[in-house]
Amino acid sequence: MSTPAIVVFDLGKVLVDFDYAIAARKVAARCKKSVGQIKPLLEHSRLILDYESGRLTRREFFEGVRGVASYGGTMEEFSAAFADIFTPIPPMIELHAWVRRQKIPTYIFSNTNDLAVEHIRRNFPFFREFDGYVVSYEVGAMKPDAKIYAELERLSGRRNAEILYMDDRAENVAAGAARGWRTILHESPEQTLAVMKRFGLP
Ligand SMILES: [Mg+2]
Repeated sequence: MSTPAIVVFDLGKVLVDFDYAIAARKVAARCKKSVGQIKPLLEHSRLILDYESGRLTRREFFEGVRGVASYGGTMEEFSAAFADIFTPIPPMIELHAWVRRQKIPTYIFSNTNDLAVEHIRRNFPFFREFDGYVVSYEVGAMKPDAKIYAELERLSGRRNAEILYMDDRAENVAAGAARGWRTILHESPEQTLAVMKRFGLP
């Protein structure tokens, strides 16, 4: 099978792991709600969806959480607690570096927010090494919405089987496959590396 023209990486649970419980513990320490009440607010609520869809600014997201949780800290404290939940996944970062050494352009394709991106860019040097970044809060749409896939195609100038895309969420992978992209449902670094070999990489 021919080598893809570009490789597109999901971020969360592919290149970096995350745990919203870390943030929830710090936020809960400054309000009257429990960790169990705060964690879903940060991870799955309408507030976080609106923030990651670009409908709320970071200030508006913070004000929303503060209102719901009666949070007593500052926006700076909240931002630091909210963003510091990531740990890099070394074999996948090595895979990305290997793809770049083959002169194959790479892209970040993520449902995320500006606090997370700022934190990851500052703390994890690998994140600066992509050719392009297609992120939900800038596009105004989240995977698996077709709009964000179209933006990746527009930015890269690539489409169909020229694109190899890996993501840990089946619905996101399915939306890519529906456009003719080659896809990998990422379950573990070992498995993804094995599938990459079938695509002529590494
Ligand atoms: Mg993910």
